[in-house]
Amino acid sequence: MGMLFRELVDFYERLEATTKRLEMTDILAELLSKTPPDIIDKVVYMTLGEIYPAYRGLELGVAEKLALRVVKQVTGASEKEVDEAYARHGDVGNAAMVLLRRKPQTTLFTQELTVQDVYSAFEKIARSTGPGAVDVKMSILAGLLAQASPVEAKHILRIVTGNMRLGVADMTILDALAKAFGCEREVCERAYNLSSDIGLVALTAAREGPEGVRRFSVRVGIPVRCMLAERLASAEEILEKLGGRGFAEYKYDGERMQIHKSGETVVIFSRRQENITSQYPDVVEMVRKGVSAKEAILECEAVPLDPETGETLPFQELMHRKRKKEIEKAAEEYPVALYFFDILYVDGEDLTTQPLPIRRKKLEEIVVEGERMRLSTGRMVETPMEVEKFFAEAVEAGCEGLMIKSVDEESVYRAGARGWQWIKLKRDYRSEMIDTVDLVVVGAFHGRGRRKGRFGALLMAVYNPEKDVFQTVCKVGSGFKDVDLETLTERVNRLRLDAKHPRVEALMEPDVWVQPSLVLEIIGAEVTLSPVHTCAWDVVKQGYGLGIRFPRFTGRVRDDKKPEDATTDSEIVEMYRSQLKKVEAE
Ligand code: ATP
Repeated sequence: MGMLFRELVDFYERLEATTKRLEMTDILAELLSKTPPDIIDKVVYMTLGEIYPAYRGLELGVAEKLALRVVKQVTGASEKEVDEAYARHGDVGNAAMVLLRRKPQTTLFTQELTVQDVYSAFEKIARSTGPGAVDVKMSILAGLLAQASPVEAKHILRIVTGNMRLGVADMTILDALAKAFGCEREVCERAYNLSSDIGLVALTAAREGPEGVRRFSVRVGIPVRCMLAERLASAEEILEKLGGRGFAEYKYDGERMQIHKSGETVVIFSRRQENITSQYPDVVEMVRKGVSAKEAILECEAVPLDPETGETLPFQELMHRKRKKEIEKAAEEYPVALYFFDILYVDGEDLTTQPLPIRRKKLEEIVVEGERMRLSTGRMVETPMEVEKFFAEAVEAGCEGLMIKSVDEESVYRAGARGWQWIKLKRDYRSEMIDTVDLVVVGAFHGRGRRKGRFGALLMAVYNPEKDVFQTVCKVGSGFKDVDLETLTERVNRLRLDAKHPRVEALMEPDVWVQPSLVLEIIGAEVTLSPVHTCAWDVVKQGYGLGIRFPRFTGRVRDDKKPEDATTDSEIVEMYRSQLKKVEAE
């Protein structure tokens, strides 16, 4: 049983002629019911300008420029004519159709193209990689166009360049599938969300009917579309929305991962269902060792770490993983920590239909926590005060804020949906700290790994002239070059004390206390409320001080400054307030 490509193209022409969504759905439903079941997945992919589900990561890889070269070759037109046609029609497909129509027909087709012929050629194009691939792709495409009528050529070129211009999206196809095969729309959508594969949903609907589509469940190796969060601005609103209580978790700022483990095989998918396994060989190793189940689908946030201090770094550092070369080196120089927050499947059990508290318990059971692999820090919250306190702790720990989640019976994993089961509370401003500050070293933390025997981070303070004390404002571990570490460790050692200096106010306990004397220049990302730093305690908000996020040593030791010349607490308050004003002005 086959289908001529011409028949498919007739439907594409009808689709192109309408902009009305309902009409489009009707045309698509008619197309799907007429398509032989064994090629329906292929028809669906092609209609979306693809040939496989996106998660397979195989693309046709034909850029418009390349397609135009083939058009020139096949039509015998000059470069100028091709460029002009392209400029006039704004699309390779139309340009080719016009040029082909002008060309006297020389070949007599003995055989018309079938959908299967076209699809197979596309697969060959997608599979040709490596040196010489461009020539191979061009010759396959040229062969196809030589057999095609002008209007067929138009659509072939649109599919290979991934630019269908039909206005058909995944959701329209789902509407049409529901209509063509008598499935409920939600059931189709659920199947799609669980499999990220609209072709497979179509194939199942055509072969097994609504019953088959209803039977969809999560499968290891096939990415599940992510559950997403809504956003509200205040703790009160969030608690109200969640019926008075929720499970609050740190909202880590890194890259979301959906990790599929089956025995020793580990596959990592991104938030957009792309396979990103090759970027994270270290994560694969960690999951092999640290997930006790044989089979599982887990979600976590991967956050970059400073390998020397173990502190969280801004998510931008993950870009080192995006370069294809030297991944092993990047994994060593830019390690990540994983914070697990959900589990969708474990050893034969689909957990997406279970409420969050049960999923969390499962997560606790199977994730073996280690230094770089933990569950997200989380706790139950019932009052706005609790939320705010926890929020400040999260920010202090380098996080973006909180994710507050429903814990009621309906708190199942809603694949692909953005809903009120998860609500994010983020800092509502983002601004750069432009000025550097000069801070006094009052304590030190031991280094690990390469920094063994030296300090890993320093506890830094501002000067409070009114009380004549030093109040802590951050812990800094970044920005120190090897030479700095050498000389500064020596200097800090000379200033060591047995106990906290009487003029130091601190809640945080460093490994060693240091006499306030050494002044360093520091730059940070911004000033935030802090539950652990004593700078400006109770000044901006009761029960909080101010802290500097993502502090770095600039390399300048301010030996020209006495500790009493350091940045003051009121200057930090001023910086905090001006940040807020800046946000309000925006
Ligand atoms: P969205 O992903 O909702 O479209 P976005 O890409 O702008 O929006 P955010 O608004 O910052 O991302 O928030 C959602 C993301 O937060 C999640 O996709 C996930 O990667 C991340 N995240 C961090 N910590 C958690 C957590 N504890 N629970 C759930 N998600 C978390």
